[in-house]
Amino acid sequence: MTESTGKINLLGLTRLEMEKFFESIGEKRFRAGQVMKWIHHFGVDNFDAMTNVGKALREKLQSRAEIRGPEVVSEDISTDGTRKWVVRVESGSCVETVYIPQGKRGTLCVSSQAGCALDCSFCSTGKQGFNSNLTAAEVIGQVWIANKSFGSVPATVDRAITNVVMMGMGEPLLNFDNVVAAMHLMMDDLGYGISKRRVTLSTSGVVPMIDELSKHIDVSLALSLHAPNDALRNQLVPINKKYPLKMLLESCRNYMSALGEKRVLTIEYTLLKDINDKPEHAIEMIELLKDTPCKVNLIPFNPFPHSGYERPSNNAIRRFQDLLHQAGFNVTVRTTRGEDIDAACGQLVGQVMDRTRRSERYIAVRELSADADVVQVASARN
Ligand code: SAH
Ligand code: SF4
Repeated sequence: MTESTGKINLLGLTRLEMEKFFESIGEKRFRAGQVMKWIHHFGVDNFDAMTNVGKALREKLQSRAEIRGPEVVSEDISTDGTRKWVVRVESGSCVETVYIPQGKRGTLCVSSQAGCALDCSFCSTGKQGFNSNLTAAEVIGQVWIANKSFGSVPATVDRAITNVVMMGMGEPLLNFDNVVAAMHLMMDDLGYGISKRRVTLSTSGVVPMIDELSKHIDVSLALSLHAPNDALRNQLVPINKKYPLKMLLESCRNYMSALGEKRVLTIEYTLLKDINDKPEHAIEMIELLKDTPCKVNLIPFNPFPHSGYERPSNNAIRRFQDLLHQAGFNVTVRTTRGEDIDAACGQLVGQVMDRTRRSERYIAVRELSADADVVQVASARN
């Protein structure tokens, strides 16, 4: 467990918060930009390395502040270039971050919570229950760690991380303030300078927070649909009982139209054998989505022990895709990446609560299959 030092952690501060911090210690606001560049562009965690900051100020910063990311427990690199980090957050739990390279694009899949309270029936993160919200520093810290592993570069140089998807562990909209702050840093030129089209928040459908989101930020939105009617969705995604489909899709359409430009919602649909993968489901989905500008990303189920579900056959997946395609939808199917390192974005286990023994964690991680590919979600909007 990372010990709290009582110092303010500058890693998670947005530009505005950083400026306020410098004012609060009697310094000029422009210092915020200098320090942010050191932190996010150069991956620095030591004030002494900040050569354009005078010694007196460096000492002042040293006494009041720190730059502290989550602790890296492991880093694995797959033969296909996929990378996976397990990081320990302040609550003692571990979460996972996955990087998927594809051509000129590099997508980082970031976690927002240790565990998740929403208990979707096919999700291994949900099976663990909720442990803690990540701080803004822990969310952006995952980008910071990944970026450093490629060798930090100034913002003007092409980056290894071109896209970020909030599709790791947790429901990002239930950790709203910290996730929004971190996404601001992802997009800020003094942070990671990633375009708003290339930062995507995925939600299972927390309607009031989707409505709130558009007041704060204009990132891309992905909706985890998984069922074309309320009866089935109530079983698979229990939060649907509170916020049913009609309300949910309206909220998503409102969010997208508030963006005020040509951007479409991404629909994620995990295909579960004999549960939601039949032609009648595709036909119902076509009807459901007819007024919602969207693209569809089908995710063949990634099995894990005792899940009670199976992945559909390739034929069933193709049949489902074809039906949507014939109805005019842009449909992609996620492919498998990072198999040799068990990198599984969207069904990450990490490890929550007090199960801190290394061996147990590796067993948990190994139980995952390997669908880490969120690249098609990302590429769809480029
Ligand atoms: N909580 C958010 C974001 C994280 S999950 C959400 O639910 O949208 C990212 C995606 O992976 C979601 O669409 C989720 O439903 C999907 N997913 C979860 N478990 C899965 C599994 N075992 N196989 C395939 N996709 C899964
Ligand atoms: Fe939580 Fe998303 Fe998993 Fe549902 S699919 S339990 S919302 S992480």
